[in-house]
Amino acid sequence: MSAPDSTASTSDGPRQDGTRDDCLFCRIVDGSIPSRQVHADEHAVAFLDINGWHRGHTLVIPRRHVDDLVFGPSALPEIAPAIDAVARRLVERLAPDGVNILSSARPAAGQTVFHAHVHVIPRYADAAGFTNLVRPDEVPAAELDAVWHEITDDRT
Ligand code: 5GP
Ligand code: ZN
Repeated sequence: MSAPDSTASTSDGPRQDGTRDDCLFCRIVDGSIPSRQVHADEHAVAFLDINGWHRGHTLVIPRRHVDDLVFGPSALPEIAPAIDAVARRLVERLAPDGVNILSSARPAAGQTVFHAHVHVIPRYADAAGFTNLVRPDEVPAAELDAVWHEITDDRT
């Protein structure tokens, strides 16, 4: 029997690198599901939300699997630099009028994907205020690609 590699798991449980093969966002971390990535560092990955509420809506997640940021192991400190870097990049590239930083823990708070994530959401004056925050499917797929290039393309 050969030794397992560093990402193998014998069941749906955690792999040695802390990801799980039964988790959507772990599969985005390992690249087996594609994403429009906007940032990556040692502890975190950030990518555009596929159903963005506002132009530039980005998710920041820890590389290792934790269900959420509050009830289990602490992961917010290790992803804080990525949240900061992403928010500042979105401000620089998209010039929004405001930004929300939000994380939901457990279904009662609205969590639907159970790998911890922080929403970084640029806000624009034409859809201002808390009541306009949640607008799934506001950003069509073609627009996702355009905004992704605005955020990530190197400037000369
Ligand atoms: P929650 O509702 O748990 O706070 O946020 C989960 C977010 O993940 C939602 O905004 C949803 O649009 C996003 N999402 C779900 N599946 C995917 C996916 O496959 N790719 C990307 N990029 N985002 C996803
Ligand atoms: Zn996961």
